[in-house]
Amino acid sequence: MKDYIILLVRQVDIYPVTIALHPTIAMHPADNVAIVVTAGGLKAGDQVQKGLSTDALVLLNAIPQGHKVALVDIAAGQTVLRYNVKVGIAKVDIPAGSWVHERLLDMPAARDFQNLPMATAPQPALAPLTGYTFEGFRNPDGSVGTRNILAVTTTVQCVAGVVSLAVQKIKEELLPMYPNVDDVVGIEHTYGCGVAIDAPDAVIPIRTLRNISLNPNFGNEVFVISLGCEKLPPQRLLPPGSFTLVDDRAVTDGPDSICLQDDQHVGFMSMLQHIVAGAKPHLERLNARRRETVPASELVVGVQCGGSDAFSGVTANPIVGFAADLLVRAGATIMFSENTEVRDAVEQLTHRASTPEVAQSIVRELDWYDRYLERGQADRSANTTPGNKAGGLSNIVEKAMGSIVKSGSLPIQHVLSPGEKLKPSQKGLVFAATPASDFICGTLQLAAGMNVHVFTTGRGTPYGLQACPVVKVATRTDLAKRWHDLMDLNAGRVADGDISIEEGGWELFQLLLDVASGCKTWAEHWKLHNALVLFNPAPIT
Ligand code: CA
Repeated sequence: MKDYIILLVRQVDIYPVTIALHPTIAMHPADNVAIVVTAGGLKAGDQVQKGLSTDALVLLNAIPQGHKVALVDIAAGQTVLRYNVKVGIAKVDIPAGSWVHERLLDMPAARDFQNLPMATAPQPALAPLTGYTFEGFRNPDGSVGTRNILAVTTTVQCVAGVVSLAVQKIKEELLPMYPNVDDVVGIEHTYGCGVAIDAPDAVIPIRTLRNISLNPNFGNEVFVISLGCEKLPPQRLLPPGSFTLVDDRAVTDGPDSICLQDDQHVGFMSMLQHIVAGAKPHLERLNARRRETVPASELVVGVQCGGSDAFSGVTANPIVGFAADLLVRAGATIMFSENTEVRDAVEQLTHRASTPEVAQSIVRELDWYDRYLERGQADRSANTTPGNKAGGLSNIVEKAMGSIVKSGSLPIQHVLSPGEKLKPSQKGLVFAATPASDFICGTLQLAAGMNVHVFTTGRGTPYGLQACPVVKVATRTDLAKRWHDLMDLNAGRVADGDISIEEGGWELFQLLLDVASGCKTWAEHWKLHNALVLFNPAPIT
């Protein structure tokens, strides 16, 4: 009789546990932490699923959504593993069920560049993806635009005010007459004068500006406004031969340009009228173009994340990674960047390089960036924001492991230095070395030739660019619901158990083709955009 009662109690005891367990997500069987999925977080005493097992674990502390729970007892000095990577070292004993946050952890040192595995990953034989197309604008230089925009390039910040008003006037007075042109954009920036223009690192901002003017979404029309006395005149910004001339001028000519200090301008209105009149032939040529069906291989997709949280590496970035593999198989180009967010994954990157030369280039870029940070007495740990930490990311190592997932699983084929432009032959997965700053990374990816941008966010940012559509992917359903008219895709459905990473990856791939064909993103709908921000590691005078 006594035995029977015990058995009954056990059954009652087990039953509510199996249905009331809150889910957690562990990334690897070896991980000794998992993240809490439940919106609003959990309280002490709540029972969670113990990582990848079905066992129950009682929480010892309240744990916010996205933050880590210790799955086992972790003694002081022991390693905290997430993604099967050492993301921290316990400063104190952390019992199973505890909240594991950044104040309890020391950050591991960065891997040095000695004895890295160079191009050691097997090169997979990929089934090509064929038959996928989008409707794009074929450019004279062979590239393809996803938008048909007139860019007005500036050589120096001094002309920005005039150009801003001129662009406004062009949009009001001319653009309605050219319905096939999507927009007119002033390429405004803070460079051009007051800078050490012959310093070695000045090559970065100069080529960035040059290459942005040549972005595929600008149709190879180059129209430059200069001041006249600046250090970066049009001939230096865009020397003959650096761009494809689309009109009948001789190839030795510099770009079509208007100089504000020119004697012909008498008064401010004269400047405005000259710029507006100068825009007309460019608008006419752009307006004569039509979208045509082109293969998906013409996509040049830049990916980055911003306002990341612990879900970035679990939902949104894996979806982007899956789509990245699809894009490579479709023959497209996909760029990942953000030096400080890949630094701790250097071993994975060099391992995945397609050749030892590509692996060397990865090391060259990351080593240069380490030294750039050292000059400012900083290192990669300066990357994480208060929001990242509030979102559950303890340090840059943990953030990097989630960030690198955006690059998918395939070999890295090419490496670009900051501000460099892709060559037409550079297809597949590309590491475009850039700072992780959202606006600077986006600016440098535009210079590289990006025609569609994917941006994942967990905390939420209304990021957008004028020159290129930005597809924003939310890491959590909670954010996707609150920012329903800012987020283009909800990857939080992966954590909710509603879709798989594979389904989300295909959805993003299709969405990119639709957006490339002209479907507007939310940022475009609202005309939300951030400023272009140049990366200038050279001195200011
Ligand atoms: Ca970023």
